[in-house]
Amino acid sequence: MTRDFVYSTSPSHIVFGAGKLDTVGDWLDRIGCRRALVLSTPHQKADAERLAETLGSRAVGVFAGAVMHTPIDVTETAMDVVHQTGADCVVSLGGGSTTGLGKAIAYRTDLPQIVIPTTYAGSEVTPILGQTEAGRKTTVRAASILPEVVIYDPALTLGLPVAMSVTSGLNAMAHAVEALYAEDRNPVSSLMAIEGLRAFRESLPQLVAQPSDAEARAEALYGAWLCGTVLGTVGMALHHKICHTLGGTFDTPHADTHAIMLPHTAAFNAVAVPELLAPVAKMFGGSVGGGLWDFARAAGAPLALKDLGLSEADLDRAAEIATQSPYRNPRAIDRPSIRALLQDAWEGRRPA
Ligand code: NAD
Repeated sequence: MTRDFVYSTSPSHIVFGAGKLDTVGDWLDRIGCRRALVLSTPHQKADAERLAETLGSRAVGVFAGAVMHTPIDVTETAMDVVHQTGADCVVSLGGGSTTGLGKAIAYRTDLPQIVIPTTYAGSEVTPILGQTEAGRKTTVRAASILPEVVIYDPALTLGLPVAMSVTSGLNAMAHAVEALYAEDRNPVSSLMAIEGLRAFRESLPQLVAQPSDAEARAEALYGAWLCGTVLGTVGMALHHKICHTLGGTFDTPHADTHAIMLPHTAAFNAVAVPELLAPVAKMFGGSVGGGLWDFARAAGAPLALKDLGLSEADLDRAAEIATQSPYRNPRAIDRPSIRALLQDAWEGRRPA
């Protein structure tokens, strides 16, 4: 076997541990920021306000208007607040939607970001920003988008509802599965992907059984960091292309879409690269797709696209869009095979 790879590390600081929320002020000092604007969704506004209060004069305000898919009009409203307050950094408290807003501000201003993730989406460790305007999602990649500091405090995930924990966890696992066959993978990305999958393999069933299990929560968040890191490091393939198509054009919920599609896309690609996905088959038992599907079902994940409001008639168009300018994929794709894969996912069939 020849070894041939490029390995680049990210310049972020990663801080992990229960109670680390208390260190946000110290990190502001360390990165030389004095005027933080705290961001959140409307749902997490009270948490953002509490955080701003603990930061005292180092916080200049709270903007609690983050929503999914980073619509440009919301970013523009937030930018007005950045200018009015004279903020010199953003502190994003929440899931991928809040992180997305912070990244959109950083992309436009180069302001530093501290992110405190409360889901397993993984956006906090990627230099990628997805934005939507007039119903179209576009993606940009830039150094200014990568957050400078990420504070993982598992205590903040204790209240993440079980159903969202499961879909968010499967969303993260999809980053790791695709990293295993990424063309630009390297030995470290593959190690991180396997360790991330192992962390979720162990923790998701535990936190479904006992949502307040602090150790399981910490393990899942650790998995989220690993899976998010490989998402930011190597290229994604068919799975992410299909999920971007479904979310971007048909507005299906982000994490649920990933959760439903993962067993199907993994099964499809396992035909071409069984050796690269062998760790997944071993970890989840049986075939790659079947093992992942059984795991998702046991955790209570949604299994059928039809339950997300997608109509059967939409599948033709979805297959057409997903096969236009496709991402690099280990197995050749064509419209009929992707249409058939979508049909299976729509019906909620277990992959062989
Ligand atoms: P989200 O951020 O939209 O959160 C969903 C809801 O759950 C929100 O109302 C939020 O306030 C609430 N919530 C979050 N954490 C909570 C907690 N601990 N307790 C209670 N409620 C909580 O969902 P998400 O799946 O984390 O993020 C999805 C978005 O992230 C999408 O827009 C997606 O495109 C983006 N994303 C981007 C990247 C990237 O690298 N650019 C990666 C992954 C996801």
